[in-house]
Amino acid sequence: MAHQWRGVIREYFDRLDVDSNTTIITLGEGGTPLVAAPALAKLVGADEVYLKVEGMNPTGSFKDRGMTMAVSKAVTQGAKAVICASTGNTSASAAAYAAAAGIQSVVLVPEGKIALGKLAQAVAHKAQILQVQGNFDDCLDLARDLSDNYAVHLVNSVNPDRIEGQKTGAFEVFEFLDRAPDIHVLPVGNAGNYSAYFKGYKEDIQAGRIKHLPQMWGYQADGSAPFVYGTPVKNPDTIATAIRIGNPASYDLALVACEESQGRFGAVKDPDILWMHRFLSQEVGVFVEPSSATGAAGLLQASRTGDNLAGKTIVVTVTGNGLKDAAWALKDENGDEIKPQVVSKQADEVAERLGLA
Ligand SMILES: *Cc1c(COP(=O)(O)O)cnc(C)c1O
Repeated sequence: MAHQWRGVIREYFDRLDVDSNTTIITLGEGGTPLVAAPALAKLVGADEVYLKVEGMNPTGSFKDRGMTMAVSKAVTQGAKAVICASTGNTSASAAAYAAAAGIQSVVLVPEGKIALGKLAQAVAHKAQILQVQGNFDDCLDLARDLSDNYAVHLVNSVNPDRIEGQKTGAFEVFEFLDRAPDIHVLPVGNAGNYSAYFKGYKEDIQAGRIKHLPQMWGYQADGSAPFVYGTPVKNPDTIATAIRIGNPASYDLALVACEESQGRFGAVKDPDILWMHRFLSQEVGVFVEPSSATGAAGLLQASRTGDNLAGKTIVVTVTGNGLKDAAWALKDENGDEIKPQVVSKQADEVAERLGLA
């Protein structure tokens, strides 16, 4: 009989901080495909590159892996409402899981800086949405303040339950590959996911499943790259809204992960992120949101600036679905709007237009 994926808590029950008293709130998250990307491997000169396609999660981003844990814990502890600050995907996820749990969700988003698809998700799932006059970092301060002083449960990645759930991404990579990759590449905003994969791989080592840690490579947008500059960025600026974060919540955790895995942080420019966003759609067949292309853009930059990736097996987490921020796909490399041509109903004319005649 076919086995249906039961969500990360049930699939990894023994490896997560849950027990038989935990009320499990799941939408079937996790179990996402690891897709071979030969065109990307060729481009960067690596042996094998795989994309961990996190846009296949129930709300279209990896946030669901952590949210199933955070909301399950909140409900188990009797919470009636959850709150988060968000650049968009955390709010979409929190709103969906709160809906599934039958509790209220409150989301704080930076004014005017949230992609339409993500806002639509939060609205659809009936979150109470407030646009805060400030950036993401201000929203997070406010969410922490409210959860410290009022009866709302914080579900941002400063909540360790989030990282705990997200570490399952690393477990799945091992299960698909039957070994650890040499390098694992991710886009980095708050660095929660970067830290979570590291935690997952470390637990795989401790359990004897893998022998070595992959190098953890984290890439930021260059207008929003505190890990590269070594100091918080006051007014982070990038088109990659999901990683537009100047003061990463998991800064210290991520530094340890980088050092212990002999990894690195790097920064890529917005045009290079958009170039890779297009490459992944056109040459690999995986449509991601621009932020999600940042890891692969960093990998290309590394190979262009002298890293020899020959013989390496590389996994790149692509974090979110392209439909969330679809406007970028409808622009060409010059930023001009792409519109389908209008044609008549005559087959011969259409054939000519398509170059078939
Ligand atoms: C949240 C998010 C990120 C950044 O993840 P962090 O854990 O904050 O580093 C990257 N891409 C997408 C699509 C996201 O939703």
